[in-house]
Order: sequence, then structure tokens, then C-alpha cells
Amino acid sequence: MTAASLHRPLPVTAVPRWDDEADVVVIGFGAAGASAAIEAREAGADVLLYERNSGSGGASGLSGGEIYIGGGGGTEVQRAAGFDDPTEDFTAYLKMAGGPCADDAKCELYGREALSHWEWLKAQGIPYRGNYLPGKHIEPTGDDTLIWSGSEAAAPFCDAAKPAPRGHVIQFTGWGGGRKLVDILEARVRALGVRVVVDARATALIVEDTRVVGAVMRIDNRDHFIRARRGVILATGGFAMNEAMRRKYCPLTFKINDPIGDKDDGAGIHLGMSAGGDAVHMDQFLTTCPWTIPEPQANGVFVNIAGQRFINEDCYHGRVSRAMLDQPGDRVYLLLDSAHYSEPFAFARTSIAATGADWEEVERELDMPEGTLAATMAFYNDHARRGADPLFGKRTPILTPLDQGPFIALELNFQSSYFSFFTLGGLSTSTDGEVLDRAGAAIPGLFAAGRCTHGLPAWGHGYSSGLSLADCTFFGRRAGGRAADVR
Ligand SMILES: Cc1cc2nc3c(=O)[nH]c(=O)nc-3n(C[C@H](O)[C@H](O)[C@H](O)COP(=O)(O)OP(=O)(O)OC[C@H]3O[C@@H](n4cnc5c(N)ncnc54)[C@H](O)[C@@H]3O)c2cc1C
Repeated sequence: MTAASLHRPLPVTAVPRWDDEADVVVIGFGAAGASAAIEAREAGADVLLYERNSGSGGASGLSGGEIYIGGGGGTEVQRAAGFDDPTEDFTAYLKMAGGPCADDAKCELYGREALSHWEWLKAQGIPYRGNYLPGKHIEPTGDDTLIWSGSEAAAPFCDAAKPAPRGHVIQFTGWGGGRKLVDILEARVRALGVRVVVDARATALIVEDTRVVGAVMRIDNRDHFIRARRGVILATGGFAMNEAMRRKYCPLTFKINDPIGDKDDGAGIHLGMSAGGDAVHMDQFLTTCPWTIPEPQANGVFVNIAGQRFINEDCYHGRVSRAMLDQPGDRVYLLLDSAHYSEPFAFARTSIAATGADWEEVERELDMPEGTLAATMAFYNDHARRGADPLFGKRTPILTPLDQGPFIALELNFQSSYFSFFTLGGLSTSTDGEVLDRAGAAIPGLFAAGRCTHGLPAWGHGYSSGLSLADCTFFGRRAGGRAADVR
């Protein structure tokens, strides 16, 4: 009935009637939308929260429920485990994790306020067992709280910021605590009196001149025109499932095959752009192949098809996986000796590409030119025996010679192995969640948070587990508070 769409806002003059209205209209009921709604409601706003699915969750509900927290000397969990975590080191790490895409203002603000955000999370009712689990884990398989979830203890990060574990995981036995996290936030949303409408899909924004004043919601096959007296908050997630957007903005993801998330179609990014919002760092994505399960595989060495190393393998599994995709060809190899080999994790879908009594034989089986892989391993082992990795700075005890045959090369194939990914780019926002235009000015009445924005998890080579939910919940709250405050 209207020409309005995700790409074209509806002028308020074309609105036939108002079907409902609120101070703040939140679109998307994942972690970012829930946090925004809670904060807006607590600030006294009347809040409508729309979700296109039949219930809350989105990617947040599928997640591990792990949140990246530190600074201020550390949470009580970090401190009990013996880790002091000054704000300067935490902030420096956040900026390094964002690399060339880092939003310094967001890193600095979260660096200062993460500890109070931790108190907020607990105050919502999110439980934490409170213990520390050493080692390398993608997520705890028990109900442990604190894990190393990034590259903090690896070069070059550990040289610039004192390392500390910062992945704080909701108390939940096994992987997938995100559902419990969202359920708790949902209970809070409902208890506060936020009006929740499910099976309701935003199809366009409504504008009055340059100001966003509402949204068109598709409910029961009919357009509903919803007025937002103070602001609309977009919290609709990323675009990992939208092939056309990936082709346009993030083509490297076509090298791999396993997008993760819910529908993640980038609708909110389009809505924001339709009102003049800028979308930035749209080429960035997190990818990971779960190759550090079992943990001793991290003692291995990665080489590309030319037999060359390319990264210190003691980094976060996602940083290593992202560096893999920069290599030529369609695969990389993980080299292990018999002292460090154990059966790879089935869902990584790796395969044995070669075995040998020495590295020369492995090299021949992989059809690599003579003296490539063998030279790489001779150089690596020679230095590893002396506790050094002059090329990439891998640290002991993960740095260890691989000299006990027989030897093996596992193939991680970009097309057939499990390389999960989700997108990191999105709308440019202020630290208060205001959507910014290409000149950096706030678009009146329009806010956004979570993976439809560019936030703390900004750079695929620096992602650390927990950064996305930290960003969604913290900056979701900022957006909710700011939108509620508009008069
Ligand atoms: C398996 C898995 C594990 C993960 N583990 C972690 C982890 O432990 N820690 C971490 O930090 N990150 C983790 N992540 C990433 C993290 O979960 C997501 O990046 C984050 O949850 C995104 O939250 P969000 O609120 O922005 O979007 P979502 O949680 O996806 O919520 C967006 C909501 O908006 C709704 N929506 C979309 N479009 C519309 C529309 N047009 N109208 C109405 N509603 C709409 C969607 O249906 C959805 O419910 C994980 C991701 C996956 C898939």
C-alpha cells in the first residue's frame, strides 16, 4: 500500500493513522533490544518492543552467554583468581582488539564502566558461579565463570597490555547459556512493564523532515503505523544470513560456508541507512574453526599451501582462523607430532591430509616443493627448543618442538571444514547509541545497538569472545537511556 520500504522511509504526511504509540520504540528482542528496553523503561519512558519472531532470542539466544568484562582492577572473580586488571590495560586491549576499525570513544567508555556494567548484569538476575577455569576453551563445558576468551596472553597483545582472562560466562552447564541470559533479560523487560509485541516485523521508518518519528510494523499481514514520541531504537542484529548484503559488503565470507545466528538479514542496517545513517566497517566478520579442541592442538603449527607459517598459534582461535582466510588457496594445514596429536573435534570437519616418519615425508605427501614445509619445521623446532619464536612470538608452554614422530598434517579446508562466521560491521553510532550520518551528525529520533551497529567487536583479526554481548548489553543500555531522555 505504500512505496516505503527498508530502503525508503515513509513521510509522516503519508501515515493514514497511528495504530499505537510510545515514548521509545525498540525493534528487535535480542540482548541489545532487551537491554535498551530495560534502561529506557527504568528512565521512565513508555516502551514498545517489537520482535519479528514469535519470541525473544535472535542470535543472542543461541549464544554462549559470555560477556567480556574487566578494568577497574578486575571483577571479584578475576581478583579471586589472582588477576589484577587495571582500566588502562583493559582499554588498551579493547583498542588493539578493534585494530584499525576500533571506535576509541566506545573502548574508553566501556573500559571505564565495564565493572559497573558487571554489577548491572548481576542485578538483572544473571547468575555466575564465580570460579576461574584455566586453559583454552571456546566455551566452558561445565558451569564455570571466568575463561581466557581472547588473545590477551599472546603477542602482540601481551606486549602492550597486561594479560588477564575476561570472558565472564553465565552459570549454565554446557554450551549455549545465551538462551538463559535472554530469558532473564526478558523477565526483567516484562516485569518493568515494557509492552512486547511479537510476530511483528519492521518494514520502514517514518520520518518528519529529517527526524525519525516512528516505524511501520507488519503484523498479521497488515501495516501498523507506530509513533515514537522520543525515539526508535534499532536492535535487529547483523547480516550473516543475507547473501546479497554479504556479496556487496563482505565478500570474503564466501570463502567459507557456515554463517551462524538467527535470520540475521541486516534489516536494521538498511532501515538506518534509509534515514541517512552511515554504515561502517561492513567488510569485517568474526570467523572461527574450533581447532583448539582438544587443547593440545594449539601446540601445533599452521602452514599455508606454500608450507609457510603465518601466525602465532597461541592466539585466540578466531584470530588464527581469520588469518587462515588471508592465505592463498582453499586450505591450510595444522601440523602436529605424535606427542601433541589427539582425535580432532568432529564438528570441526577436519581431515588427515598427510602423515610421515619425518617432516620431509609429510611435505612430499602434501605435494609441496622440496625444502618448504621441512625448512619451516626445522626452523620452528630449532627455536622452540630454546623457547623462542622469532617470527611470530608464540610463547611457552604452548610453544614446544614438534619432533616426535610419526607426524601428521590435518587439513582445514575453507569449503568443507566448519568455519562459522557472523558480521561485525553496521551503523555508525555515538557512545549514546545515536545513529550518525556520513558527516558524523546524529539523526534526530534514531538510535541503534548491537550487531546492526559498529561497536566494540570491530575487527575480525582481533575479535575476542564476549565482546559482542558486552557491546550489545552495554551500548543497548546507553541507547535506551539516551532515547528515553529525549524531550
Ligand atoms: C552460536 C553463537 C554463539 C555465540 N556466543 C557468543 C558469546 O558467548 N559471547 C558473545 O559476546 N557473542 C556471542 N555470539 C555473538 C552474539 O550472540 C551476537 O553477535 C549478539 O547476540 C547479537 O545480538 P543483537 O541483540 O544485536 O542481535 P540478535 O540477538 O540477533 O537480536 C536481533 C533481534 O531482532 C529481530 N529482528 C530482526 N529484524 C527485525 C525486524 N525487521 N523487525 C522486528 N524484529 C527484527 C530478530 O528476530 C532478533 O530477535 C555468538 C553467536 C552465535 C550464533
